[in-house]
Amino acid sequence: MELLKGKEVAKKTRENLKKEVLTLKEEGINPKLAVIMVGNDSASQIYVRNKSKVCNEIGIEFDEYLLPEETKQEELLELIKKLNEDKAINGILLQSPIPKNLDINEAFRTISPEKDVDGFHPINVGKLVLGQDTFISCTPYGVMKIFEDYNINLEGKNAVVIGRSNIVGKPMSQCLLNKNATVTICHSKTKNLSEITKQADIIVAAIGKPCFVTEDMVKEGAIVIDVGINRDSEGKIKGDVDFEKVKEKVSYITPVPGGVGPMTIAMLMTNVVKATKKQNKLL
Ligand code: NDP
Repeated sequence: MELLKGKEVAKKTRENLKKEVLTLKEEGINPKLAVIMVGNDSASQIYVRNKSKVCNEIGIEFDEYLLPEETKQEELLELIKKLNEDKAINGILLQSPIPKNLDINEAFRTISPEKDVDGFHPINVGKLVLGQDTFISCTPYGVMKIFEDYNINLEGKNAVVIGRSNIVGKPMSQCLLNKNATVTICHSKTKNLSEITKQADIIVAAIGKPCFVTEDMVKEGAIVIDVGINRDSEGKIKGDVDFEKVKEKVSYITPVPGGVGPMTIAMLMTNVVKATKKQNKLL
């Protein structure tokens, strides 16, 4: 069994980005990310702080827009439109969740596709489906980067993705399909799940339930990617895979923490640099 150390891939990715950003700065181009947060969700505050730290490390400028809980939809859209037009801003990210009375889908649709570094705009999702160059949702993009870094060839492999969320499961499946894997998508209504996962050469678990994938669901020699980030009763972070038992059977597995998690921010930064280059006609 070999560990897929996302943490190391993420570090390498950040180091390469730092060099790219330096080169851009020498040409007078300063990549900048704008992050919008509405309300006081405590987890979001931590995520935004982490994003700001990594921007700082890489040399990407970071603007934070904190809107109060009682913000109206029009006000949110107005801010997004203002940021769309601001040439100094290359990427826009709306941190979810936002208060329930706001329409997050309309907000995502309002972000200019050229600045949509989260890859949530329907145009960018559509391009992914069509196999065109786009901004890919950061977590699945991070998983693909891990495959690339470890030279794992996906062509013809049976890949089973558990979870069909818009931010992980669906784009993950599409990325795997684009690399010629044979993809099965499973969800909460799937029957005989373990019969399906036992056929898989690659399992991607994006469920949100600790230790959901057990060793009897995994075939000998499979590759297991654990996207899950869950907290157990002691507050310890656990993945969606029963790591200790599953690791005995597999050829590769991502640990939690230190696997997919660190890749997400690294790929966000990759998307910001890409957006900057595209906007400056360097790509
Ligand atoms: P969602 O809750 O949006 O989606 C969970 C998916 O799992 C749904 O499609 C659901 O099916 C499916 N599911 C739930 N129960 C079962 C079951 N018993 N059998 C099969 N499928 C099931 O979660 P996300 O996609 O946003 O996140 C998934 C996990 O990944 C979470 O732990 C989250 O914290 C983590 N995550 C990690 C990130 C990272 O940076 N590493 C980034 C984003 C998320 P249905 O559609 O039928 O309800």
